[in-house]
Amino acid sequence: MKAAVFYGSRDVRTEEVEKPGIEDNAILVNVKACGICGSDLHMYKLGLFNEMLCRPLEQGGIPGHEFSGEVVEVGSQVEGIEVGDRVATVSMGGMSEYAPVTVIPGFNVIKMPPEVSFEEAATLEPLANSLHAAMRGNPVQGENAVVFGAGIIGLGVVQCLKALVPDFNKIIAVDVSDNRLSMAKKLGADEIINASAEDPCEKIPKIVGSAPVMFQPTEQAPAVDIVYDCVGYIKDRPEPQVIQQAISLARDFTGRIVVHGIFEENVSLDLLPMIVKQVDILGSYGFMPPEPEQAMELIRSKAVDRLGLISHEFSLDQAKEAFEMQCNVNDSVKVLIKP
Ligand SMILES: [Zn+2]
Repeated sequence: MKAAVFYGSRDVRTEEVEKPGIEDNAILVNVKACGICGSDLHMYKLGLFNEMLCRPLEQGGIPGHEFSGEVVEVGSQVEGIEVGDRVATVSMGGMSEYAPVTVIPGFNVIKMPPEVSFEEAATLEPLANSLHAAMRGNPVQGENAVVFGAGIIGLGVVQCLKALVPDFNKIIAVDVSDNRLSMAKKLGADEIINASAEDPCEKIPKIVGSAPVMFQPTEQAPAVDIVYDCVGYIKDRPEPQVIQQAISLARDFTGRIVVHGIFEENVSLDLLPMIVKQVDILGSYGFMPPEPEQAMELIRSKAVDRLGLISHEFSLDQAKEAFEMQCNVNDSVKVLIKP
């Protein structure tokens, strides 16, 4: 069968490899669509995390952990899944014609309702991540949120806030790509800020207002209830660190910061404002049941539009081009590979 094989930094080749067999607790999926994730880019560019992200081969490994397809084989211990089922899955090795998936019920294999397309279902994993991140912040009616990073996760956070929290006050999206920001606006962000042109820490208090800090009354803190950091730390970007900006933007005492973006390097931070304002910093990683099922229902009911986020589609033969396009953050949102 054909597969995209990752060998090292910026080295992905489409090759013939052996068709995989399955264990008793697994299914074999004929892959129809597979997304390239932000984490795949850390791997593609820097060679990071490949043991977590690739199905290993004797040489190199097959990336792709968010994909959809048709079940063609079912292991003897697997219950509730049949040959012919259409599924969205989270596993490894999705950038190939066939991928073995060890089934963790309710978690990594979700059956697709008939009205959901393979393309939409390939975006289920990032949506489940966004849903998890959005809810970690405990958003409630009337609050303001700032979402740093209008990639697939940040845009999904905007979608989940819009779909699930009634009467949210303001959602402000910050990114460095005008393209992605206009997408954020389309999906429901009330305000957008291009951080390469304007300082979010100056502009945001003008949008949401600010109030004195209880233990430092000469200082003002913006009325931002939740900051979502869907950027993390990307080496060699000239902009100030998002996590530091998040700390200065969070509201006194009840402000929360949800960190989902990955850090490519250790960073040094001024934590004093976090301590004085008593801000909560919350990590967010992956998702937990029943979030994948909830995410599928958000897609099925059209509470969120995932097709609009798919900016490019490539064949397996064009895997390298697909990765390069996903690296081009200005022009791409979600790139799919369709074996
Ligand atoms: Zn992912």
